[in-house]
Amino acid sequence: MAWLTGYEREKIDWFPTIDPKKCVKCGMCMNCGKAVYDWTKDGSRVGRPYSCIVGCSTCANLCMGKAISFPDIEGVRKIYKKEHLWAKVKKQLTEEGKLKIEKK
Ligand code: SF4
Ligand code: SF4
Repeated sequence: MAWLTGYEREKIDWFPTIDPKKCVKCGMCMNCGKAVYDWTKDGSRVGRPYSCIVGCSTCANLCMGKAISFPDIEGVRKIYKKEHLWAKVKKQLTEEGKLKIEKK
């Protein structure tokens, strides 16, 4: 996966936080493809925060109760800049052939 190119996931402060007072137990966040959440009798809980894809916020966007929040994305962008992650990601994508223009 070319999002971090080897940079340690645990060094990046990006994962969801649920405000339990706002959670209406709609279940939408359980759609997360990375299985970040656990379902409990009290609704959803964040079980595996570092499985969350850095920069993703789909669950928060679709949460019925607007109960999910994330840290400020600018902190992530600073790391990307400082660690040259944008250039590394592009290099990896190029190597994987994902930036090849398809002829139709
Ligand atoms: S932001 Fe994306 S990857 Fe992270 S928990 Fe929500 S849906 Fe899953
Ligand atoms: S999407 Fe939001 S309201 Fe729905 S279960 Fe998850 S945290 Fe609760």
